[in-house]
Amino acid sequence: MSRTPTAAVDRRRDLHTHSDLTDGTASPAAMADAAVAAGLHTWGLSDHVRADSDWVDEYLRLVRGLRRDGLEILCGVEAKILDSRGRLDLPTALPDLDYVLVADHQYPAAGGPVHPRDVARAIAAGAMLPADVVDELVVATCAAVQRAPLPVIVAHPFSLLPKMGLSETDVRDDHLRALAAACRTVDAAVEINGKWRCPSARIVADLSSAGVDLVAGSDAHRPQDVGAFGYVDVIGAVHQPGADAPWARPADLPSSRRERRVAVSP
Ligand SMILES: [Zn+2]
Ligand SMILES: [Zn+2]
Repeated sequence: MSRTPTAAVDRRRDLHTHSDLTDGTASPAAMADAAVAAGLHTWGLSDHVRADSDWVDEYLRLVRGLRRDGLEILCGVEAKILDSRGRLDLPTALPDLDYVLVADHQYPAAGGPVHPRDVARAIAAGAMLPADVVDELVVATCAAVQRAPLPVIVAHPFSLLPKMGLSETDVRDDHLRALAAACRTVDAAVEINGKWRCPSARIVADLSSAGVDLVAGSDAHRPQDVGAFGYVDVIGAVHQPGADAPWARPADLPSSRRERRVAVSP
């Protein structure tokens, strides 16, 4: 895959943050204040959901009720990929959220999520091959991107690899081509994650040159980390206002696209 030295992201937009509604330390209002203090023009709250989360309607109302001068506020959720078919740990009935972060929190095996420690043990015992593990992770991520019922960001891609004793050197160019193709099909973006400091500069450059939109996400769980994009600087991505996926401006999202995506059953 041909490579470019840099990718462009808008560092004044942070769509990956958590509040004390799930595992963050501060209220949604305090995180909104932090977004203003960080100089952002767009901020999204993306608390963790599971299939049985019954509070998403109330959560959306709360976030839609937040107002800060000069700040566009979006409401998303973060959901883990459950299995190699790309099913997501997401309620089947969802309100009109702006986006979903799909995340590799557990290893998405054919039969369902497996703790990465158990995968590491299986690799060490010779019961699983690293190449097969990465294959299945990429297949699952591509499937999740395609079947997600909302505009998608792939959150902290490949953050699972070190937890399984693997690294991004186990990710081949054909894996990245497959991921890029899946993302391009549905205009999904891939995140450069400030907390997990992934993916690497090589993967960012490959995905960027393959036409994938990159977004910076802090994954902030406390106010002082909102808009903290030090890792973006480390890998050399350039700041370009408006560089992100067009759906980051929800008014621009064609209704036909949203309808088509919602029609995909979970
Ligand atoms: Zn996550
Ligand atoms: Zn997160």
